[in-house]
Amino acid sequence: MTQVFVAQHPTEAHLVQGLLEANGIAAEVHGESLFGARGEAPVTPDTLPSVWVLDDDQASSARAVLAAYESREDTSHGVAWVCPACGEQIESQFTECWKCGADRPSGKAGE
Ligand SMILES: [Zn+2]
Repeated sequence: MTQVFVAQHPTEAHLVQGLLEANGIAAEVHGESLFGARGEAPVTPDTLPSVWVLDDDQASSARAVLAAYESREDTSHGVAWVCPACGEQIESQFTECWKCGADRPSGKAGE
């Protein structure tokens, strides 16, 4: 087993686990039980929930998935988009075209 991610809280750990499993990589969350004890324990990687890949051979692909996940987080702000209806370029913070009112095209289905 290989540790591929240290989360700040159990929710993030499970999000990452789900992301890996969606990519066909079996993963486990460890250290959740220690999370409740953080009031007494110092915050170190040992007391934070971590995500482990069961198959060591999949650790590198898991890291690639996580790198894509983290870079998407970083770039989700500040990317302008082009209105499909009128061709106007729209700032990233707007969800519809200020010129013609068309909705921002969704690159992520289901969200
Ligand atoms: Zn428009």
